[in-house]
Amino acid sequence: MPTSEQIRECKAKLEESRRNLTEEMEHLRESSAALDEGQGASDLADASQAQYDKQFVGRLSETDKRLLDRVNAALARINAKDYGICVDCGEEIPFRRLLAVPYGERCVACQEIAERDAKNRSSGPSNEPAGFDD
Ligand SMILES: [Zn+2]
Repeated sequence: MPTSEQIRECKAKLEESRRNLTEEMEHLRESSAALDEGQGASDLADASQAQYDKQFVGRLSETDKRLLDRVNAALARINAKDYGICVDCGEEIPFRRLLAVPYGERCVACQEIAERDAKNRSSGPSNEPAGFDD
């Protein structure tokens, strides 16, 4: 288990991420609303640009939402006192890795397997870097 000092450090990072993500999603919601208002009055080129922007904003907020879910899950694990334990094999996740990816829920080995599986299902690359362990 990470020490309580280490957990405090990760928790601070997680809470900061949660704040940033929440703010960013708020901004994205605002730009999406602004794009809605801009529609209708403009010509076709503008309309398709607005459509494109809206999809872009939608993708960004979807990414943020998934990340926020993971941040919240990590904070819940801290509260449940099982933070820093790999959800797959039950081994400790090295603190260095937790510092780099405080919402990480797997050790390096399991993360690599999970990413390989994800790639096999071709659901896109993970945004979580692997290989922080020595
Ligand atoms: Zn593991």
